[in-house]
Amino acid sequence: MGQSAKLDSMMPYRSWVEVSRAQIGANFEAIRQLVGADVEVMPVVKADAYRHGAVEVSRVLEERGARWLAVSNTEEGVALRDAGTRTRILVMADFLPFTREALLAYNLTPVIHSLADLAELDRLAAQRNQRALCHLKIDTGMGRLGVRADTAAIAEAILAAKNVEVEALMTHFASAANYQTSQTDDQIALFEKTVAGLAAAGVEPNLLHLSSTIPVAYRRKRSWRGMVRPGHAIYGYVSPARGHAPARALAVKPALTWRASVLSVKDLPAGSLIGYGGMFRAPQPIRLAILAAGYADGIPHRLSNRGSVIVNGKLAPIVGAVSMDLTSIDVTGSPETKVGDAVTLLGTEGDVSIDAQEIAKLAGTISYSVLCGIHARVKRIYV
Ligand SMILES: *Cc1c(COP(=O)(O)O)cnc(C)c1O
Repeated sequence: MGQSAKLDSMMPYRSWVEVSRAQIGANFEAIRQLVGADVEVMPVVKADAYRHGAVEVSRVLEERGARWLAVSNTEEGVALRDAGTRTRILVMADFLPFTREALLAYNLTPVIHSLADLAELDRLAAQRNQRALCHLKIDTGMGRLGVRADTAAIAEAILAAKNVEVEALMTHFASAANYQTSQTDDQIALFEKTVAGLAAAGVEPNLLHLSSTIPVAYRRKRSWRGMVRPGHAIYGYVSPARGHAPARALAVKPALTWRASVLSVKDLPAGSLIGYGGMFRAPQPIRLAILAAGYADGIPHRLSNRGSVIVNGKLAPIVGAVSMDLTSIDVTGSPETKVGDAVTLLGTEGDVSIDAQEIAKLAGTISYSVLCGIHARVKRIYV
């Protein structure tokens, strides 16, 4: 046991997240119920499971029967293998020259994004005297990763890669939440055309997958095919759709609560300036609580003078600038607040709640970025 493990057992935390294993499990079940038994659900646990902790989240999902997990890069896949994960692991955004050997050695399945990389995987597999599995990503209009070649060229490359089995074709949507554009339908149509063209050329992978959270939650069934890849929904979030979207068909709840300790409480007279830049001037006498968390923990700096936290079941506004390790809140309305109390930065107390979407709106960002922004130094507790 290192020194920090000892410290951990001696004191509560400055700032921590509580992740509900049961809620992660329930969200996974809700997705499985919605898509039905014929559609495989591959939870996305990249970016340390959107900061919920990939090892622990993956353990919960594997116990609940997940057969596939998706990560972004090889390092994330290796970390899961080292922690004992036995599911298939899809690495969605790697195949850098220096990670290829580890990909194969750790039984990770790469997504291949170009025909040159497919040939390279074939060469590596031959060298290792093994057959490599991969998923091939088609760029149907996202304009980021994926093959954008004509179907004949794709078929030729797959047939030439004798040591590779392309077990799935996949694509990714650029605007799935936007029902005001035809981009998603156009992408689906191009994907289907590519699949049909490849089939005609004798290439018929077992599996097709296109959908992240949004097309699952809004029941865009045509894009479910054999597998779906939800990330956000596993953690309890579905972004709102734009335009004439069908009703949301998925009920999930946030699994993460983020809390911080009160480091100091003080009273200041009317007219006092609070924090860097004197960004806030107290209009009347104010009771301040200084929280032991700041932007280095992931509280967006843009919440300066505009966000709130929950103190004893009531909203308390953030006053002044969020600083690196500290954030000041106005607890005039909760005068009982004392040093060592815990406040809620993200979560629910009684009937008051703040979620990542609300924080994102105030901070001018997206909920994904709020979750991924929770820094590694914020301790994680599983409940
Ligand atoms: C991150 C990611 C997902 C999951 O997206 P969510 O919106 O979080 O469900 C699915 N597919 C790919 C290719 C991704 O990069």
